[in-house]
Amino acid sequence: PCTDYDMAYFKAYSHIGVHEEMLKDHVRTSTYRNAIMHHQDLISGKVVLDVGCGTGVLSIFCAFAGATRVYAVDASEIALQAVEIVRENELSDRVIVLHGRIEDVEIEEKVDVIISEWMGYMLLYESMLGSVIFARDKWLKPGGLILPSHASLYLAPITNSQRYKDSVYFWQDVYGIKMSSMMPLAKQCAFMEPSVETISGENVLTWPTVVAQVDCYTIQALELETITATFKYTSMLQAPLHGFAFWFDVEFNGPVRQKSKKQAGQSLDGDSQNASPSNKKKKADVSILLSTAPEDAPTHWQQTLLYLFEPIELKKDQNIEGSVTISQSQQHARFLNICLKYFTGDQWYVKESVMK
Ligand code: SAH
Repeated sequence: PCTDYDMAYFKAYSHIGVHEEMLKDHVRTSTYRNAIMHHQDLISGKVVLDVGCGTGVLSIFCAFAGATRVYAVDASEIALQAVEIVRENELSDRVIVLHGRIEDVEIEEKVDVIISEWMGYMLLYESMLGSVIFARDKWLKPGGLILPSHASLYLAPITNSQRYKDSVYFWQDVYGIKMSSMMPLAKQCAFMEPSVETISGENVLTWPTVVAQVDCYTIQALELETITATFKYTSMLQAPLHGFAFWFDVEFNGPVRQKSKKQAGQSLDGDSQNASPSNKKKKADVSILLSTAPEDAPTHWQQTLLYLFEPIELKKDQNIEGSVTISQSQQHARFLNICLKYFTGDQWYVKESVMK
């Protein structure tokens, strides 16, 4: 059933601004185009389903790659624009725009390829992965291609003195007036909820851990309800710990290069293995990667930060261990509850926040 929340969600996607932002995110859009061209042999002459087509950009890339037919599905009013865009590119005979929810539309045939740009902030926030899973189970032929094929969510401790200055110490002296009494409130307001902002590689204190690994070929919707991972970091620097950052990447692998059973078994439960330089090297062999990491070119997803109310002075090589749980809120399906527990310098801390 289409809930009020769905209605508001699809309405948000009827505005030009969100599509403009996504299209202007060159890292995002050109990586999708590269991935499509990279898999041209699996797309040319084939039938494609674009889950959440928006302006139709990915459908049209697939048509350029030689797809015989592309079903471009979107529940938002933007689908009406997609019809016009397809027409002005003279692709109406090959790209069929369907205005409706993927869960409701009728398609007369099974498809060889599913493409979708479903990722939300910190991968899972307002993500439409559930709709991609639905489409896969209903419409994808056995052995078909899913782009992207894999996704990973990362977490790492960070330092960000500038942010503390801007949001907290600012109140110490405002035009020569002491407003330090505002500092507790300022901390509450600035650091209560997760914050989407861009940091750089220099803010990150050590290698990230993998919180979740999604294999789009095999993941089940139930696995997304609660994700738990443990971590153990060793700070590479002496610096104040200001919080933790989430980011993600997605890979565009063909169906042949599915993960081994062992890796698939670990799927969503973070394996507390730090992504090491050697992991990085492995990544380099992977065909195509869309990364939202702080050390890579910025994207509209930025990073998602969880700030501590009080910084912790870390020594070099100091350990931080603990766990993180991300769960879909029972009250509001779109909210994510994030519970971070960590132990460092002989003390346990808990940070609970809700991504609204
Ligand atoms: N593919 C486009 C748009 C991506 S944004 C691009 O890459 O630029 C995601 C789109 O998916 C939005 O337009 C949203 O309306 C649509 N969407 C999300 N869930 C959907 C569902 N269940 N059924 C149909 N469309 C959906």
